[in-house]
Amino acid sequence: MTSISANLQAVHARIAAAARACGRDPQTVRLLAVSKTWGAGAVREAAAAGQHAFGENYVQEGCEKITALADATLEWHFIGPLQSNKTRAVAAHFHWVHSIDRLRIAERLSAQRDVHLPPLQVCVQVNVSGELSKSGVDPAAAVALARAVAALPRLRLRGLMCIPEPTADAAVLAARFGVLRSLQGELAAAGIVTDTLSMGMSHDLEAAVAAGATLVRVGTAIFGERGAQ
Ligand SMILES: *Cc1c(COP(=O)(O)O)cnc(C)c1O
Repeated sequence: MTSISANLQAVHARIAAAARACGRDPQTVRLLAVSKTWGAGAVREAAAAGQHAFGENYVQEGCEKITALADATLEWHFIGPLQSNKTRAVAAHFHWVHSIDRLRIAERLSAQRDVHLPPLQVCVQVNVSGELSKSGVDPAAAVALARAVAALPRLRLRGLMCIPEPTADAAVLAARFGVLRSLQGELAAAGIVTDTLSMGMSHDLEAAVAAGATLVRVGTAIFGERGAQ
């Protein structure tokens, strides 16, 4: 067995254990393999082991990889910060965008999404860590942004995403992930039903699953330390 395939198995086992520990069905948590900085060969290895969805942070690197792997029919998620001048390439290549943090970016993605492609699946990124983080919309503004995004014709709002500040404090993590979960409830109460909470990475996926994550974004635990390749 390759190490990527062994690592994938180990991550699936962690997700399953975390889900069972809180009475959730492990099937309700999807695994996104974050392949940023790793080459097409590593992605093919993960795909051969059954992994279907991959996450990228950098527009040019991601688009090149998607083009190189076009024969593999994989699902590609853009999860990094997105500038206005890069939206066209993202709208053309990716299936999902997790990092919508302002309306202007969403409007551009919707306008630029080819009518022959399915709608772009999107999540609104929320800053759950206050001044400890710079990315994501303020929780107080998240419902309004989500409502506006949901109204755009070529986007489909799937849910919310967050990246808490790095911390080993379990109570802090639970509180941060809890903000995202309760915002999803507020959205539902406002008539905007979503099915995705994108939260949890290599070091904190258990806490995220306990707090209701439906999609965890895992890089290092699958591919190894970035920069070591
Ligand atoms: C890099 C990255 C991940 C994966 O982080 P790991 O610690 O390597 O699992 C997840 N989400 C986002 C937004 C990232 O940038």
